[in-house]
Amino acid sequence: MERNCYCARPAIRKTSWTDLNPGRRYIICDKFWEPGECNFFEFTNPPMCERSRQIIPGLLRRVNRLEHELGEKKSQEWWMWVVVAACLFVMYCMI
Ligand SMILES: [Zn+2]
Repeated sequence: MERNCYCARPAIRKTSWTDLNPGRRYIICDKFWEPGECNFFEFTNPPMCERSRQIIPGLLRRVNRLEHELGEKKSQEWWMWVVVAACLFVMYCMI
């Protein structure tokens, strides 16, 4: 369902990831953050129950941390291959 905001632009659908409303969908005007412009903002699904409000932010932080650690491991692997390649190159030059 397409909705228009007060200034007749199509509202943008977004998902909130704040601690208060994790995963809650809302629609907002793309001029919302510009001062003096349209202030259209509306949640499109009901608030989370108390329990999910407590759990989801913690889960999100955990996912973010794991992704961060995974990224670090990947970059370590990348460096390992550079070192291996450099060693092979040095060995090749010494033959
Ligand atoms: Zn608007």
